[in-house]
Amino acid sequence: MTQQTKTSVYDQLLVREHLSRATPPATLSEAEEEALRQRIREQLQARNAVLIAHYYTSPVIQALAEETGGFIGDSLEMARFGARHPAQTLVVAGVRFMGETAKILSPEKRVLMPTLEATCSLDIGCDISSFSHFCDQHPDHTVVVYANTSAAVKARADWVVTSSIALQVVSHLHEQGKKILWAPDKHLGDYICRTTGAEMLMWDGACIVHEEFKAKGILDLKKIHPTAAVLVHPESPASVVELADVAGSTSQLLKAAGELPNDTFIVATDRGIFYKMQQQNSHKRFMEAPTAGNGATCRSCAHCPWMAMNSLERLVTSLEQGSNEIQVEPELIRQALIPLQRMLDFPKPS
Ligand code: SF4
Repeated sequence: MTQQTKTSVYDQLLVREHLSRATPPATLSEAEEEALRQRIREQLQARNAVLIAHYYTSPVIQALAEETGGFIGDSLEMARFGARHPAQTLVVAGVRFMGETAKILSPEKRVLMPTLEATCSLDIGCDISSFSHFCDQHPDHTVVVYANTSAAVKARADWVVTSSIALQVVSHLHEQGKKILWAPDKHLGDYICRTTGAEMLMWDGACIVHEEFKAKGILDLKKIHPTAAVLVHPESPASVVELADVAGSTSQLLKAAGELPNDTFIVATDRGIFYKMQQQNSHKRFMEAPTAGNGATCRSCAHCPWMAMNSLERLVTSLEQGSNEIQVEPELIRQALIPLQRMLDFPKPS
């Protein structure tokens, strides 16, 4: 492994600059909220559009996606749904790379987002020119990138993977004797490296939400709730993943919440997932895993500030004005589709 970080991701100037623009949505009265929801329902119908939301968006947005025949899922499931659905406009509630992935899989469709300012610390921290240079320095490595990257970074990769299939793909490459260059999440990369034994070079990126979960906080919470199962997304640090009863992608954690016999769960991923977890398991209790604790800033919580930018107001404006359309150059789409298609063609883990 290489390139371990010495400073927090928060301290990186680019991330701070983007965070300063991540303004949370205004609080609305029930009547205001319903009025916006009604306008969105009408716009979706009038414009032959479908709402596709990520698990980490607000419960209001997720419920609206369900109610209007749209979809809730992880980034790959969202893009797959968009490609299958007959609507000509996909409204993607999530962060920018998700809109780009939807566009890559559905280049003939219009992809709108509530805001193009909603990004991801992993995407910001992996710019194409530095990444390309890193790849050029290691031509004997197979380049595997996480879905949380720009279209340009995907286009430079041999494989794109999501957290639900990363272990299987890297194991497969490792069995073929391939050395891996992995980007951008060092925690997820480290987890894959520990689990598969593959030889991996790491990019130095992290998710500002998952990096904040603390092992000590989880251990303290376990003392109060000794029978609770711990569910962890592997974008979290190794000390947190070690405490997991189940570590996995959002979809895998949702599945575990339904299958494990425990009635209480400590969940180390964005709290947006609680909407689906609670809906599917109404008799179970879900608690956020503690983050930075005492003295924490408002950013140190289990919710992504960029996912939180997906508000009803922004959604209705985007639909009514056709604004915030995702644009990806056709040549970039062609190149990025190659490593994405490799993942789509890879046998799905059971
Ligand atoms: S939760 Fe983390 S990985 Fe997901 S979009 Fe936000 S910053 Fe990126």
